[in-house]
Amino acid sequence: MAENEKIQKTLQTCFACGVCSASCPARRFSDEFNPVKITRLILLGYKNELVKSPTIWLCAKCNACIERCPRGVAFVDVIIELQNEAVREGIVSDQLKMAAKNLLENGWLYRLSDSDEARAEMGLSPSPKADVEAVKKLAKRRDFNKFREE
Ligand code: SF4
Ligand code: SF4
Repeated sequence: MAENEKIQKTLQTCFACGVCSASCPARRFSDEFNPVKITRLILLGYKNELVKSPTIWLCAKCNACIERCPRGVAFVDVIIELQNEAVREGIVSDQLKMAAKNLLENGWLYRLSDSDEARAEMGLSPSPKADVEAVKKLAKRRDFNKFREE
């Protein structure tokens, strides 16, 4: 079954109770990000508009919506498909570009070197080094460079 059809089928079981939105930590910090609204918009045919919206990148993938949904809707899969579709269309969030840049430069998603000073103050050794060459090799095989920040 195509991904699009799978999502439509999943969402058709949603009865708009709003439990996902009430449970969502991203929702607490953003008036724009609202899981139940996103499910409705997809069912009403606004998927393409959502793909272009920066809102879809706010999901923290914490799974709280899935754990509490009385209908077993895998909402995170819906968000991931929207994000995948966005990337296929060349729309990549700034946060993702930054994470990709860090990954390709030092092998970590975050700049761990920033924390070395704090670690030293606490008597801890510097952050472990990642195998950057291995990461670059993998990134090349997965055509990962398109995520990179310009
Ligand atoms: S909790 Fe589940 S059924 Fe309720 S609105 Fe969210 S996705 Fe739909
Ligand atoms: S997985 Fe995303 S949508 Fe679901 S509760 Fe967590 S932040 Fe909200």
